[in-house]
Amino acid sequence: MSAAQSGAIVVFTRDLRLRDHPALQRARDESERVFPVFVLDDQILATSHGAPNRLSFLLDCLRDLRSSLQSRGGDLIVRRGNFQEQIDRLITETGSGSVHLSEDVSAFAARRTEDLRAALAKRGCSLQLHPGITVLPPGTNSPGSGGFWKVFTPYYNKWIDAPWRELLTAPTAVNAISGIDPGKIPSLAELCSAKTSPSLPVGGETAGLERLKNWAASSLEVYEENHNALAADETSRISAYLHFGCLSPLEVATRLQGRPGAAPYIRQLCWRDFYHQVLAARPETAKSDYRERGDVWRVDDDDAEAWRQGRTGYPLVDAAMNQLRLEGFMHNRARMVVASFLTKDLYIDWRIGADHFMKFLVDGDVANNQLNWQWTAGTGSDSNPNRIFNPTVQSERFDPDGSYIRRYLPVLNELSAPLIHNPDSLTRERLGYPPQIVDHKEAIEFFRSQLAANRTA
Ligand SMILES: Cc1cc2nc3c(=O)[nH]c(=O)nc-3n(C[C@H](O)[C@H](O)[C@H](O)COP(=O)(O)OP(=O)(O)OC[C@H]3O[C@@H](n4cnc5c(N)ncnc54)[C@H](O)[C@@H]3O)c2cc1C
Repeated sequence: MSAAQSGAIVVFTRDLRLRDHPALQRARDESERVFPVFVLDDQILATSHGAPNRLSFLLDCLRDLRSSLQSRGGDLIVRRGNFQEQIDRLITETGSGSVHLSEDVSAFAARRTEDLRAALAKRGCSLQLHPGITVLPPGTNSPGSGGFWKVFTPYYNKWIDAPWRELLTAPTAVNAISGIDPGKIPSLAELCSAKTSPSLPVGGETAGLERLKNWAASSLEVYEENHNALAADETSRISAYLHFGCLSPLEVATRLQGRPGAAPYIRQLCWRDFYHQVLAARPETAKSDYRERGDVWRVDDDDAEAWRQGRTGYPLVDAAMNQLRLEGFMHNRARMVVASFLTKDLYIDWRIGADHFMKFLVDGDVANNQLNWQWTAGTGSDSNPNRIFNPTVQSERFDPDGSYIRRYLPVLNELSAPLIHNPDSLTRERLGYPPQIVDHKEAIEFFRSQLAANRTA
C-alpha cells in the first residue's frame, strides 16, 4: 500500500476543532484515508467523576466535532478504554501507518505520549506531534541562556514580536471512515453519577466561535477598562473553549490583533502560553511549589470548608464561591481574591484551593489553575509574592454598588453599598449571614509572622 492509501490516524485530545488544526492538516497532507478518533481514556475518566462540569462540556465538544465531520462526509470515531490499546486496535482496523497528535504539556500528557511512541515503534508505526494547544509551542520562545522564562514580562516581550505560524483553514470535505464503527458518544449519566452545576455553557467549536464573535463585537474595545468590573461580567468567557481546544488560541490572537482594544486582551492570552511553557519545563509544579517557601500551612478543615461553601462572612468571597458552584466559572478578579483569602488570610495550602477549583471549573486546566494558584499564594511566578488582597477593599473597588454580591449571594439581596461589603453584626444576625471567620488585619499579621518564621527556620 502507498503512503497515501495506508491511512493516518488523528488522535484528538484537547484540540476539539476543525479550524487551524495542524495535526489534522498534516495527516490529510500525508494520506487520503484519515481516521479522526477520540479516546475516552479510562485513566482520565477515573478522575473525572469529581469534575462533571468538564465532562459535560467535553461531551458537547465531541457531539459538535462529530457533527462537523459528518457534514463534511466523514465522522469522529469514539472509543473508550485504555488510550494506547484503543489506538493500537484502530491501527489494526484501518491499516494506518502513522498517528498524529497535538503536543501537550502536563506530566500526564508527556508520559502518555512517550508510552504511545514506544508502543507504536514496535508496530513500525510513526507518531508525529504537532502544535496547536498554545499560540507559540512551549520551548520555542526561550531566554538566550536556555531553559524557560521564569517571569511573565520578558516572556511577553519576546512572545508578542515572535513570528507566529500561518493559520490553517478547516477542511471543506473529509473522507468517509468506511468500514469502521464510529462508536457512540455516551451520555453524561453513563460516565458519571455526580451532578453538574445548574448553569453551564454549551461546549464545542460552533458555540465557541459564536461566543467569541459576539463578545469581540460588543466588548473587545472596552476590555481594558471593564475586565476587572465584577458585575459587568464583560470578559470573553472563552477559557473553557481554549482549554478543550474548541478555539485555536493562535486563531483568536491572530484574528483579533490590530482591532481596537485587542492589545490588552492578547496580553492575557499570553499568560496562558506563559504558564504552559512553565508547566512543560517543570511539570512537578502542578503539585509542588514553583518557588519553595518552606510553608507550614495551617490545617483547619472547618475553615477550609467554610471557604468552599461560601460561608466565610466576607460577602465578595462568599459570592464568588457561589458563582463557582453555580456556573463552573468564576471571574478572574474574584479568583484572585478567594485564592488570596484561602492562602493568606486563612494560611491554608494552595493545593486545597486548587483541587476545589478543579472540581468545579469548566476551564479547569493544570497549567493555568495550579500556576495561578501559586502566583496568588506567593509560591509562584509573582515578582511581588507577598501582595495581599483585602477582600473588603477589593469588593468596594471592583463591585462598588454590590451587584455582583447580590447576584451570587441572595441572602444579602436587600442590602446596598456600602453596607453590603461588610454588614454590621445586627444585620448579619437578622439576615442569617455568618460573622467573618477571621479578622483580615489579624489574619495577615499571622501570615506575615509565619513567613518570617519560615525564613529563619
Ligand atoms: C486562582 C486562579 C485560578 C485560575 N484557574 C484557571 C483555570 O483553571 N483555567 C483557566 O483557563 N484560567 C484560570 N485562571 C485564569 C483566569 O482567571 C481565567 O482564564 C479567566 O478568568 C477566564 O475568563 P475569560 O475567558 O472571560 O477571561 P478573559 O479575561 O476574557 O481572558 C481571555 C483569555 O486569556 C487567558 N487568561 C486570562 N487571564 C489569565 C491568567 N491569569 N492566566 C492564564 N490565562 C489567562 C484565558 O485563556 C482567557 O480565556 C485562574 C486564575 C486564578 C487567579
